[in-house]
Amino acid sequence: MDEAIPRRRKVWGWGYQGEGPTPAERDAVAAMVAARFGVREVSFEAPPPVEALDLRPPRVHPPEALAHLCSDGPYERAVHAYGKSYRDLVRSLRGDYPHPPDVVAYPRTEDDLVALFDWCAEAGAAAIPFGGGTSVVGGVEPDVGDRFAGAVTIDLTRMAGVVEVDEVSRAARIRGGTLGPDIEDALRPFGLTLRHYPQSFEYSTLGGWIATRSAGHHATLATHIEDRVESLRAVAPAGVVETGRFPASGAGPDPNRLFAGSEGTLGVITEAWVRVEPRPRWRSSAAVRFDGLRQAAHGARALAQSGLHPSNCRVLDPNEALVSGAGDGSAALLLVGFESADHPLEPWLARSLEIARDSGGLVDEGSVRHRSEENGSRGGPVGTWRSTFLRAPYLRDVLVSMGMITETFETAVTWDRWERLHSAVLAAVAETLSAVGASPVVVSCRFTHVYPDGPAPYYTVIAPGRRGDEVAQWDAVKAAASDAIVTNGGTITHHHGVGREHRPWYGSGYTAGIALLGPPAEIGSGAPGWHAGNLDPPRRPRGTNG
Ligand SMILES: Cc1cc2nc3c(=O)[nH]c(=O)nc-3n(C[C@H](O)[C@H](O)[C@H](O)COP(=O)(O)OP(=O)(O)OC[C@H]3O[C@@H](n4cnc5c(N)ncnc54)[C@H](O)[C@@H]3O)c2cc1C
Repeated sequence: MDEAIPRRRKVWGWGYQGEGPTPAERDAVAAMVAARFGVREVSFEAPPPVEALDLRPPRVHPPEALAHLCSDGPYERAVHAYGKSYRDLVRSLRGDYPHPPDVVAYPRTEDDLVALFDWCAEAGAAAIPFGGGTSVVGGVEPDVGDRFAGAVTIDLTRMAGVVEVDEVSRAARIRGGTLGPDIEDALRPFGLTLRHYPQSFEYSTLGGWIATRSAGHHATLATHIEDRVESLRAVAPAGVVETGRFPASGAGPDPNRLFAGSEGTLGVITEAWVRVEPRPRWRSSAAVRFDGLRQAAHGARALAQSGLHPSNCRVLDPNEALVSGAGDGSAALLLVGFESADHPLEPWLARSLEIARDSGGLVDEGSVRHRSEENGSRGGPVGTWRSTFLRAPYLRDVLVSMGMITETFETAVTWDRWERLHSAVLAAVAETLSAVGASPVVVSCRFTHVYPDGPAPYYTVIAPGRRGDEVAQWDAVKAAASDAIVTNGGTITHHHGVGREHRPWYGSGYTAGIALLGPPAEIGSGAPGWHAGNLDPPRRPRGTNG
């Protein structure tokens, strides 16, 4: 490598080196674990230092002409060995690195990329695109088996930057490796925003968002990043692909949508024109209490079908409300919010609250906020929920270091089937955790997004794990929950992507539409040197008829 990395990501845990939970946050998590799970003997396990890791020697080496772009140092290999799922965190905490990349490359240009791919093809090495590495589905893990002579992780964060802003059409040309905060910093002077805020915003990239069909800030309408992609450019095995900039087009299958969700199997997305919007000046929000999740879902459905399209329409079950601090655990909450760069929003919020009341909700009058650019601050349950949401990944690290199982999974399902799915998921998780000896358990549910035809339920599971067995314990729960999801009409993922972890449930059961294109193992496997970490032969999901 010819240059030092400006800020170094932690090998283990969320964020950059030097960042992390405060002592007060750690104490609060320990107190919560003692109160809810009866775990009083708390010890915090620390990951081994990088120099103590026993990484296998690199199996492939770059040619001299590419050496300045590459590193095979232990830090680089370890920090690119995993994404950020619970299983990744536990394995990395234990210093368990059976499949580190042999080499990590940092291309700066498309020419660099092409040269790297040519070398990978010649060397018989798998090339794995790596954006921010926040995949929670094993999408960046270089577990490529014996078919390849080695694995080269292609870190794209040096192919970054906002290149061009079209203020007239409200679109921006942004390089694939650009991190969320850098996108917003560059758009701010124009008064514009992409307003795509996944919870992983700080450490994930535009290319990664598109490659995984990430879902962000907006709870209705343009929920996924592909709704914002006007055109894109990618380096594919057949050459450079560039799609035309159109507000819309009816010409054949949409090539942008083909790359959206391709998870690196079709090529590397090097840049995209994305639709941006003026920064909001007015915001109105409120919280509504309901007896339980089902009642709150009723209110959310009425809102989702009202045509009002709130930018926030999140449902928290009582557990989720309690854990996030937005409520006291005695009621479910519906958080409603509107934003506009053009007009105040009192009438929209007022009509939403009428709908919520008609659905049996009790409006928390103290939570109603109308803010303009000039005045007002976030606060109340809506503000509390937001700040917990942003700190949650750091707090998850604390839980993992204490030996707690803590993971999330998500889906989307039509309204007519969601209650059945929800009951089946809760039963599957509780039964499996009890069978593997992990109890008591807290399972909470929120709706991250709502559509006129159905919600996107998102589950968080926390339970005491058995140190050393947590991954096996979690794998059993994840398999049972995934079976329950697909057999009850849900998609295996609303926005986390497929990666390795969802492969068994992808393309089968109710998510079978993609099977028309052939099994996913065949997608993108035409050229040597191309691998996205998820090209294993598909397995038939257990418990499905698909
Ligand atoms: C705490 C936490 C919260 C999260 N919250 C959300 C959320 O709110 N919404 C959401 O949608 N997701 C969320 N995720 C999941 C994850 O952040 C998203 O999948 C994100 O889009 C991944 O972006 P990345 O840049 O980190 O990609 P990576 O993890 O680096 O890569 C993901 C996949 O895309 C491929 N890839 C990456 N860049 C490119 C490229 N330029 N061209 C082609 N292929 C590429 C990789 O090979 C891999 O298969 C969360 C994850 C964590 C850990």
